[in-house]
Amino acid sequence: MKLNRRQFFKLAGTGTAAISATTLTGCSDEKSSMIPQVTGTPKGIPWKNWSGSQIAYPERRFAPASTEEVQEIITATKGTVRAVGSGHSFSSLVPNEDTILSLSRLSGVLSHNPDELTAVIGSGSRLGALGQMLYDNGQSLINMPDIDKQSLAGAISTSTHGTGQNYGSLSSYVTGLKIVKANGELVECNKNKNPELFQAARVSLGSLGIITEIEMQNQTPFRLQNESWAEPMEDLIEKAEAYKEEYRNFEFYYIPHTGYGIGYGNRETNDTNVVHQTDTSNEDVMTLKAVNNYLGWSRTLQGQAISFFMPGSEKVISRDLSWKMYSAQRNVRFNEMEFHVPIENGIACLREIMRLVDTDSQNIWFPVEFRYVKKDDIWLSPFYQRDTFSIAVHQYHENDFHPLHKEAQEIFKRHNGRPHWGKNHYLKAESFKHLYPKWNDFQEVRREMDPDGKFLNQHLKDVMVG
Ligand SMILES: Cc1cc2nc3c(=O)[nH]c(=O)nc-3n(C[C@H](O)[C@H](O)[C@H](O)COP(=O)(O)OP(=O)(O)OC[C@H]3O[C@@H](n4cnc5c(N)ncnc54)[C@H](O)[C@@H]3O)c2cc1C
Repeated sequence: MKLNRRQFFKLAGTGTAAISATTLTGCSDEKSSMIPQVTGTPKGIPWKNWSGSQIAYPERRFAPASTEEVQEIITATKGTVRAVGSGHSFSSLVPNEDTILSLSRLSGVLSHNPDELTAVIGSGSRLGALGQMLYDNGQSLINMPDIDKQSLAGAISTSTHGTGQNYGSLSSYVTGLKIVKANGELVECNKNKNPELFQAARVSLGSLGIITEIEMQNQTPFRLQNESWAEPMEDLIEKAEAYKEEYRNFEFYYIPHTGYGIGYGNRETNDTNVVHQTDTSNEDVMTLKAVNNYLGWSRTLQGQAISFFMPGSEKVISRDLSWKMYSAQRNVRFNEMEFHVPIENGIACLREIMRLVDTDSQNIWFPVEFRYVKKDDIWLSPFYQRDTFSIAVHQYHENDFHPLHKEAQEIFKRHNGRPHWGKNHYLKAESFKHLYPKWNDFQEVRREMDPDGKFLNQHLKDVMVG
């Protein structure tokens, strides 16, 4: 039987439900075991991150409409101030009891240079909205992550990335920034002006000040053809080296308990014939959940139920302008940990992570994600001076993610991994000193920008100071 990826998931879900209806009793959804982290005293409407793992009750919230307003707020406000983009980070970068500052009103393409293909962009602009705006100006982001809901400032502050061995994170395409310091002063930086600040500010976790404008190096608009296919995981691993050469952007997933994976590759194309497949990724993930709920008592049966319907390697094709191709809708919420390991450790680390998610007690059914990111020279970039293999493990938002993430972190540490700043991790300043050669230089710049720690909440104190 040859099925494409969508038909497979549909059948796997139906088949499993049928098996379980006739053979099982008492199998149902588990109850929520996830307890969110709450900051501040509950009152009024809480601030929540995307996954719901972080909740905060700040005294004040502001949404300034201009750089001058940002300066006034920063000068007048006492206590901790944390900027928020679109709240898509899993780690507790934003929560604090005093002030949360949204930059959502500082958005849009403010100017562009058609010769250099650069654009100055309001820091609160959502990546998704930028696509059309840049296109109208003859430009396009060079690479994108797998969703486009993030703000540009939020994305670069955590070194948000897509995939592709020849492509860096979004931060690596920043060519200039404007930032409001803790004393309210506006400073500008690029590779010639305040170059040390520029090295620090392209990935800063919001610890240096409030970014109001970002200049990005872009390229002329381009089209992508996306190909996705299922393949036995061992074959995917063996061919990964070739696939990452063949495709502009290549990533792959492992489906726990099955021995099967899914490959995704983008290649540039001049074909203007637009093709979109119905996005079934949320349905697919819920099918995996259903299979786990019904057959999770027997990992063998669970794996067999899914692998029985696994297709040959028939490819599903989509095609459009780049910014319409990169992102998916993520409607099924989860909590995520992602570590960036040196590329030479990638496959060994992947194998250990596969063993972990296949462990019965972990109860993981969310696919594990593998991506490639090119090295850069940004002081706190997880890709600083090393080409990287990124591995992300996910836990359904209702399930306690700590058991999985704690064990996964131990594996990542053994492989010299650096955590994604916006995703869960348990590391503190002491570890980062060893992971980042320019750690002390960064801290010097931070102390100059914010001598009294106005931009440090508890999480940032742990991470930056220790
Ligand atoms: C469903 C989902 C999919 C994701 N996919 C990817 C992916 O493919 N690749 C990837 O690398 N990551 C991914 N992430 C992680 C996400 O890209 C990062 O956590 C990103 O930082 C979120 O952007 P945001 O605008 O929501 O920022 P927030 O989470 O709101 O903030 C992130 C950081 O930026 C700071 N910040 C925000 N605005 C400013 C400003 N104006 N000035 C100074 N500091 C500021 C905040 O203080 C905070 O430290 C994903 C997250 C989710 C929930």
